[in-house]
Amino acid sequence: MSVTDSFATLTLPDLLHQPREEIRALQNRLLKEQIEVCYKYHPFYSKLMKKEGLEPRHIQTSDDLIRLPATSKTDFLNDPEAFRLRGDDLPLEQRTIWKIMYTSGTTSGTPAPIYVTTFDEHAYLCAAERRTDFIDIRPTDMVANLFPLTSFPLGAYSRAPDEASACGAAIVYAHTGRPSEPFPVHRSLDQAVRTVERHKVTVLWGVASFVRRVLVRAQELGADFSHVRMAMITGEAASPALRKDMLNRLREVGAKDPKLCNRYGSTEQGASMVECTDGSGFHILAPDQVFHEVIDTATGKRLPDGEKGMIAFTHLIRRGSVFLRYMMGDVVTMTNESCPYCGRTGPRISSQPVRSGDILKVKGMLVNMQVVKDYLDQVVEVNEYQIVIRPMDAKDELSMDELVLRLNVRAGVEAETTKTVVEEIAKTIHLTPKIEYADKDAIFDPAVDAKPRRLVDLRPPR
Ligand SMILES: [Zn+2]
Repeated sequence: MSVTDSFATLTLPDLLHQPREEIRALQNRLLKEQIEVCYKYHPFYSKLMKKEGLEPRHIQTSDDLIRLPATSKTDFLNDPEAFRLRGDDLPLEQRTIWKIMYTSGTTSGTPAPIYVTTFDEHAYLCAAERRTDFIDIRPTDMVANLFPLTSFPLGAYSRAPDEASACGAAIVYAHTGRPSEPFPVHRSLDQAVRTVERHKVTVLWGVASFVRRVLVRAQELGADFSHVRMAMITGEAASPALRKDMLNRLREVGAKDPKLCNRYGSTEQGASMVECTDGSGFHILAPDQVFHEVIDTATGKRLPDGEKGMIAFTHLIRRGSVFLRYMMGDVVTMTNESCPYCGRTGPRISSQPVRSGDILKVKGMLVNMQVVKDYLDQVVEVNEYQIVIRPMDAKDELSMDELVLRLNVRAGVEAETTKTVVEEIAKTIHLTPKIEYADKDAIFDPAVDAKPRRLVDLRPPR
């Protein structure tokens, strides 16, 4: 059976209601061909397979995949071009570059390109169209693309029109972002609010903190958002407190019965996961395009369901930039149990993803800063915040760490709010933060940055 036949055998929602073995069998058929293509045309994986003494015949199923060492983001950032298939004899649509998106580098400012072929673009459109029972975009919708106009094309910015068009919806762009010379194309936050109003937008889509700032500003401007029925948020972990806050704000600007769609994905993966119900865990919506597993970073071994580790994905039917066992940088647990809320049988991420960078050593103690973020997200008096870890003495290489909390608090309640915040944090993580007050925009300027940097580690690498 060829890949195309396999792909056409099942469609969502049927796919996610199929017995687990059916889904696995389909994944295995697709994986086999993906591995063959990588062995022939993928600079990084053909080299890695040869180094490990592996041939395509050794990787016939997703269980065999564990023979291949996992790929880190550093592997990719070191040489992004080595992750692009180079198959000159592949069919035209499988080798033609439809577009290039970028993912930001972790340390330097150089973004890394992700190549999307015509074939991959069609796969994305197909997945977007058939998942509308999860991500409810309707042909009658007007979507606002609230992703900023950045110095390199962000994945989400260019996926918004893909998805809106696949679902037959209309789309309008806000084009906020850092002003660039010589073309004055960027618009302000206020203009973004007015665009939403003018076009009677029904779906807001952007980075969670930015969508929240649009709502805050809409309220200040007295804008009418009564036509908005859903906000889709992505790009950062959105705590239950943040989601609740956003729903309240949507109601305050006139939305009747607003919904929030919390999406989890990555540009490298080219796929999204969402919850069917708040707290259900993130459903993997295209198990016929991407395979997921959880890996123990210390040993590189695959972990069973329910055990916490690094989430990794493997492309099953991809022709531009292809990744196998690529670790996304988030710590999760997975489950293959049927969903207690919707009954779907497909795999799910069963815990809220925690960025592995959020777990770090401060003053010699391992601290999960996600806990601090979750706490601060639900303090309504806190307008903006940033957690900074820096050496107490910048000139001393071996200086002690210092935990600083940059805060912007609602006027009039600074002293009491700060006191409570300091006490709560000290109680939770056993570290007492030093407080520095700052302007809202000095912490996160939505007109300049795509998303806030909630956690900043200024310590020299050791
Ligand atoms: Zn479900």
